[in-house]
Amino acid sequence: MSVLVLAENPKGRFKKAAYELVHYGHLTAKSLGGECIALVIGGVDGAGDLGKYGASKVIHLADFKAGFDSGVYANIITQIAEQVGAHTVVVNHSSAGKSLAGRIAVRMDAGIVSQVNTVPAKEGSGITVGKPVFSGKAFAKFKVEGDKRVFSLMGNAIAVAEVGQACPVESLSVNIPESNVTVKEVKTVDGIVPLPEAELVVSAGRGMKGPENWGIIEELAKTIGATTACSRPVADTGWRPHHEHVGQTGVAIRPNLYIAAGISGAIQHLAGVNSSKCIVVINKDPEAPFFKAADYGVCADLFDVVPRLTEAFKKFKSQ
Ligand SMILES: Cc1cc2nc3c(=O)[nH]c(=O)nc-3n(C[C@H](O)[C@H](O)[C@H](O)COP(=O)(O)OP(=O)(O)OC[C@H]3O[C@@H](n4cnc5c(N)ncnc54)[C@H](O)[C@@H]3O)c2cc1C
Repeated sequence: MSVLVLAENPKGRFKKAAYELVHYGHLTAKSLGGECIALVIGGVDGAGDLGKYGASKVIHLADFKAGFDSGVYANIITQIAEQVGAHTVVVNHSSAGKSLAGRIAVRMDAGIVSQVNTVPAKEGSGITVGKPVFSGKAFAKFKVEGDKRVFSLMGNAIAVAEVGQACPVESLSVNIPESNVTVKEVKTVDGIVPLPEAELVVSAGRGMKGPENWGIIEELAKTIGATTACSRPVADTGWRPHHEHVGQTGVAIRPNLYIAAGISGAIQHLAGVNSSKCIVVINKDPEAPFFKAADYGVCADLFDVVPRLTEAFKKFKSQ
């Protein structure tokens, strides 16, 4: 019996989320028994390197060329799960993973828990696994009975660690069903570190007053090599693109540094950013809830503080 994880490889390369998932699969196999097997669908170099994060073997369907179709992928993953005798299948809680988890669970007749953030443990006749609930305010333990289960792993839930060496890569024969989906266009954002992988993030909210003022945020982000983010209302009103929205309904991040300017720190915002290692809050309201979650707080006007912070970083970098 084994733990099967789907290592996503958009644009033919693995992202941090894939390494995170493989490492989670390794920890799950240690806890529940068996080995961690990584499944890679489509062309990518260095599939065997997933062994470094805990995969004992990689199943690589390198000839698969079609685009993503959750029906087709779920069918393939279920076939592979059966062939390798997987008791647990784990996918990322990404847009692809979210569309896959339920389909795989139905096909495998397995229990499902989405957005987990702990390693499952055996308990009685089943297993238990944890996930945040009520916008991250509480933590719930779910019990899954039966001998099969499917999880989607919350982004940035566990730290990636190297635990081994490159592992063998094999192929397996599967029946690939015909796709009912035609992908007409794929729009991607290039040139920046995607938010889920960013180590440094500069974020701003409604305190910016309008999109015309975002230059100071972009300048600060550019100076320190950070990715920009925003609160939900800012994206909803079109001040910033939706892919920058962080929080409960946006992207979950876990950077080393999160600088938040003009964001109140509502619970739904904190749900996506409170795993950041260091949070710096700039807000002119001393009662802003974000200060309670901050490692460093600056209670002042952001239009004064942010440019001065940028200048200080520039000076520091030029020394
Ligand atoms: C179901 C649900 C899901 C949600 N999901 C999300 C989510 O995923 N992400 C998210 O962000 N929100 C989410 N929200 C919205 C959330 O509840 C808040 O409304 C939102 O986060 C507030 O955004 P904000 O802090 O930018 O704006 P505001 O609440 O308007 O806060 C602006 C802040 O800027 C400060 N400020 C103003 N001017 C200045 C200045 N010159 N200098 C310094 N500070 C200044 C103010 O003191 C204030 O604290 C969700 C809400 C619901 C109901």
